Amino acid sequence: LSDRLGGVFDRLKGRGSLNESDVRAAMREVRIALLEADVALPVAREFVDGVTEQAVGQQVLKSVTPGQQVVKIVNDALVAMLGANASELHVDGTPPNVVMMVGLQGSGKTTTTAKIAKRLTEKGRKKVLMASLDVNRPAAQEQLAVLGTQTDVATLPIVQGQQPTDIAKRALQAAKLQGFDVVMLDTAGRLHVDQQLMDEMKAVSDATIPEEILLVVDALTGQDAVNVAKSFTEQVPLTGTVLTRMDGDARGGAALSMRAVTGTPIKFVGVGEKLDALEEFHPERVAGRILGMGDVVSLVERAAETVEKDEAEAFAKKMAKGQFDMNDLRTQLAQMQRMGGLGALAGMLPGMKKAQAAMANSGMDDKVLVHMDAIIGSMTKKERAKPALLNAKRKRRVAMGSGQTVQDVNKLLKMHKEMSTAMKRIKKMGGIKGLMKMFG
Ligand code: GDP
Ligand code: MG
Repeated sequence: LSDRLGGVFDRLKGRGSLNESDVRAAMREVRIALLEADVALPVAREFVDGVTEQAVGQQVLKSVTPGQQVVKIVNDALVAMLGANASELHVDGTPPNVVMMVGLQGSGKTTTTAKIAKRLTEKGRKKVLMASLDVNRPAAQEQLAVLGTQTDVATLPIVQGQQPTDIAKRALQAAKLQGFDVVMLDTAGRLHVDQQLMDEMKAVSDATIPEEILLVVDALTGQDAVNVAKSFTEQVPLTGTVLTRMDGDARGGAALSMRAVTGTPIKFVGVGEKLDALEEFHPERVAGRILGMGDVVSLVERAAETVEKDEAEAFAKKMAKGQFDMNDLRTQLAQMQRMGGLGALAGMLPGMKKAQAAMANSGMDDKVLVHMDAIIGSMTKKERAKPALLNAKRKRRVAMGSGQTVQDVNKLLKMHKEMSTAMKRIKKMGGIKGLMKMFG
């Protein structure tokens, strides 16, 4: 992916910010990379659209290529979409807490049931009972009993001829009588989603009201992951998913599809046939795997840190001198965006209160930051250094050039004035050092 983006962005080197057509070109490559990593098409499309919007107009850092920077933006968005780190199972309610496993045949439900049971027993110090509701496949119930012996976890005694809901009820009964904390229900799968299977899942879910219903999906399930996830989501209240076979060649794109379609967190990742081959979900790792690159991301992160430091130091110096021109305002706007937009900035500096109030009253949202950046971008070098040069004619030109109105230009100039005044006040208080002192 890095090579591809590098090509697309070579001609962009040296330019100030990521423009729309270049970002779109890069995003086409990102989309292909996602599809190659088995992200389902509609999910890839939606993701790319969101990221494109985010990337356009961003400043390019000095020490990285635009391609690398886009990779970082894509990576961050991926991590965010994949969701929070390791969310544990909710099994601390009044016992017995039911954990139900659902999914297609061969996805790894039975194995994962035993893996989770082992984990809850050893790490969570829970008393766990496992029960197989798979009455379709011959010897399925025995398979779980064998895993129970291997992991030292109790399994419900097998009674032939019972229906899944009856077995589930019997498991709950046994758990209540014998003081188990958790009941793990391993259900039957099918080769494909069918209504009979769904009705069965629903009946079991209604009869046992599980604390957790986990959808188990093979990471190698490519485009079909969306359909599987959709069908199960519609029928039972899923609380999470487990991605198995991440020890193989799978790039993990299914993780993104599952997350997007079910809206539930990925709770575990299966990384082998052995019963301790179960890991917590780490979004950064999976994001890196989907994109096939971890190094670029940390490179860009480091670059961003230094640039911010450079900018902050230069700005502090200017402030100390009482200078504040349009270039500085532009830097400030870019920083505001990086720091989480206007909301995050409220009341950070004492001298800035008035300027902020002006900003708030102007009905500004974060899009306005982008527009302001465009306005400053349309000024000449001289105008930026000396905003007083901007007479009516020049204002009209700037407005035209940036696609904004003269009123918008005036608003920006007013804001700049407020901020300059604030800067001078800070200077009177002893510059940046005085300010630091005030904060202790
Ligand atoms: P079920 O039909 O959904 O119950 O699937 P099983 O639990 O019986 O698993 C089917 C096969 O997949 C078995 O051979 C398991 O050992 C294997 N399996 C399950 N999870 C993993 C995993 O995370 N990695 C690997 N390599 N194999 C797995
Ligand atoms: Mg099974």
